[in-house]
Amino acid sequence: MKNAEGAVSGQRSAVFWGVSINIKSLQSCVIVCKFSGVVFGLKVLKLMKDKLAGGLISIGGHQVPALWQRILPEDFFYLKFPTEHFSSCQSCPQIEARGFGASHKCCTYLPLIPNFMMGYALEDNRSASAIRGLIDTRYMTLEGSHISPIAYRDSLLENARGLFGKSEKIRCPLIDETNGSCGAYAYRNSVCSTFFCDNLHGAQGSHFWEKVQSLVGQVETAVAQWCMTRLGFDLDRYFIVFENWSQRIDDTYDAKTGGWSECFLRELHQDFYGKEAEFYRACAKELSDFSGDVFEEISCFKIRDNWNYQSSFHSWLCEESRAEFGADMQGAGVPVSPRDLWYELQLNHRELWSIPFNEAEYRLAPGITIQKNMRDSALGEHFSDNAYQVVSSDSALIDQASAFITRQEAASLKLFEAPRQITGELLSAYPFADCQDPRALVSFWLRKSWITPVNSGKSH
Ligand code: SF4
Ligand code: SF4
Repeated sequence: MKNAEGAVSGQRSAVFWGVSINIKSLQSCVIVCKFSGVVFGLKVLKLMKDKLAGGLISIGGHQVPALWQRILPEDFFYLKFPTEHFSSCQSCPQIEARGFGASHKCCTYLPLIPNFMMGYALEDNRSASAIRGLIDTRYMTLEGSHISPIAYRDSLLENARGLFGKSEKIRCPLIDETNGSCGAYAYRNSVCSTFFCDNLHGAQGSHFWEKVQSLVGQVETAVAQWCMTRLGFDLDRYFIVFENWSQRIDDTYDAKTGGWSECFLRELHQDFYGKEAEFYRACAKELSDFSGDVFEEISCFKIRDNWNYQSSFHSWLCEESRAEFGADMQGAGVPVSPRDLWYELQLNHRELWSIPFNEAEYRLAPGITIQKNMRDSALGEHFSDNAYQVVSSDSALIDQASAFITRQEAASLKLFEAPRQITGELLSAYPFADCQDPRALVSFWLRKSWITPVNSGKSH
């Protein structure tokens, strides 16, 4: 596939910095009572009854945390999402095709799970012990699970060396390597929930998922900070603590464990050092109890960021990791309102699915041919149920799982060996009528430039 390595590492690390090493200070006085004794016990009991906790919902056939329903706009769930069925994680094609490790696949990534999700996950027997492991190794701050500078640098280095999916050193601490399952599946963050190694719509599909990831990631950040504020924290002060340590980054991590250092977290978490689990539960409780529209609420919330710290971190990096970090930072910067990101996503969605009905004639793009799947490659063997393969003079396309198509899809695509208009009549007749979703098929052929307008010479 043409962008497995780059897109994978880029997507998975960019969001880290979207939320990232911005640590905030806290005011303890109000919160002490919120965490004490019987009151806290009652709060947790009530949280257990949250009907969204631990659930999964489907978007385009993909399972994402049901808690998204609490934090995203309602209309988000009416969008049409690409099925991305070639990113078949249960039977990962990249193990053979790209040499990804069978026990961890693309989970050579260190996720940032927001504090409220950590709180819900701690209340769930399926994920509690994995989350406790993050806390015990100080792979967290009060914002949620949180990668330390040394672990982040190592992650950048492994990606720079082309070891995404293959790294022996960087593995998500939540992965169960005995069976490759995620230890916090119902609480995965925006990156893990929206990552696909092969996009049906090609680069445009990848871009669409980046937009989804940006929206959800920004909402996760905003809700995490909003929960902290509702618990009485002074976020601005929290940032100052972090900034104060920015000139001595080596003191902020524990080189043995790769987590944050005890001295740093003690100052950062103040009265709540050692009570992080209770803190995360309280964040979840704040969200669970809020009866208003969370998305509207956080769209007006001022998201904090810490570019001074990031600048110091950048200087601290070695040259090799800095080059990877630089690529990471593209597009990152001033916090954008979740509302603006939602608007951008809707525009992108419209473009993703648009079809030029009854307009110009289209035909197979130059260099594109349809051949039998000879099963003479790892991907061809993996997708042996798909009898045909789209072959391109662009060698990157040949490596894509989504180049393997069914007999009905091949018959439909072959219609474009001769110029023809895309019409409702065409899509409702044989062989299109035998395909599962003819409109979706045509839209991804257009986005991948397998079919192009006859006269313009441009791809759609
Ligand atoms: S996203 Fe792709 S690489 Fe990752 S587990 Fe799924 S199929 Fe494998
Ligand atoms: S949180 Fe789960 S899906 Fe994400 S990297 Fe870790 S094990 Fe993989």
